[in-house]
Amino acid sequence: MSAKIIDGKTIAKELRAELKTEVEELKETHGVTPGLAVVLVGDDPASHVYVRNKHRACERAGIATKDVRLEDDASHEEVIKVVRELNEDPDVHGILVQLPLPDQIDEDEILNTIDPKKDVDGFHPFNMGLLLSGQPSFVACTPKGVMHMIETMGIDLTGKEAVIVGRSNIVGKPQALLLLYEHCTVTICHSRTKDLAEHCRNADVLVAAVGRAHMITGDMIKPGATVIDVGINRLDDGSLAGDVEFDSAVEVAGAITPVPGGVGPMTIAMLLRNTVDAAQAAAGL
Ligand code: NDP
Repeated sequence: MSAKIIDGKTIAKELRAELKTEVEELKETHGVTPGLAVVLVGDDPASHVYVRNKHRACERAGIATKDVRLEDDASHEEVIKVVRELNEDPDVHGILVQLPLPDQIDEDEILNTIDPKKDVDGFHPFNMGLLLSGQPSFVACTPKGVMHMIETMGIDLTGKEAVIVGRSNIVGKPQALLLLYEHCTVTICHSRTKDLAEHCRNADVLVAAVGRAHMITGDMIKPGATVIDVGINRLDDGSLAGDVEFDSAVEVAGAITPVPGGVGPMTIAMLLRNTVDAAQAAAGL
């Protein structure tokens, strides 16, 4: 058996086309152009690639972008000042601070300084709290994108065993909550989990968000399971690989996301979705 491939590129493209229409409408009927500000500190090459891709996607959808770049040795206070200015800027509806930040900067405090109404990454504790209490507002883009893919594929989640490998604030934890709200029975695994393979083999829906290339192999997957590979790992030859060993997993799973071309494009599409939502809310819609 060979799994259905969940084509994140195509699903994201459809979503971006819908958003483009919404953006045009916002401009024509309310004179509002959604705006996203991206703050990039330092010269991490991967961060530069991510930021460039986000800018390009915004431009294509008609979303205005504002770029704030700070040197690698920027102080914590400088970054706080930039975020505060963006909070006050009426043309900016969404603020994204590209992570990771250099060591001298307190990441939590920076994220906590973003106005929750402009927190399009959904990392502010206020928005995380809303998600936890079942009243989601801005939800982190990657787990939100995963849910959109599963819905588009018509996969029923009610009563399913969902296993998430990884418990970060930006992927694992919000993913667990979103799957719980869709009535899955949810297990979260992490680096101290005993017998990871056994947990994975129980999963009807398996989400891998670890950052270790190929750690989930076909023999850890329940036949017919939906496998979502969030991991992005750079191999020695420069190519990208997920956390799932695709070639063995595709023979067992019912549906699977590739890397690249799976979750990655969905994350960017959801960032645009959240920015348009923020602009609509600012316009009182
Ligand atoms: P983090 O490093 O913040 O979290 C990794 C998690 O994996 C931790 O909870 C850690 O456990 C767990 N873990 C580490 N080793 C093991 C192990 N051997 N067995 C089980 N669990 C383990 O990473 P992120 O959540 O930020 O990202 C995860 C991956 O997803 C990365 O590859 C990242 O690049 C990718 N990513 C992709 C995105 C996309 O758009 N496709 C967006 C965001 C991230 P513990 O808590 O115990 O340390």
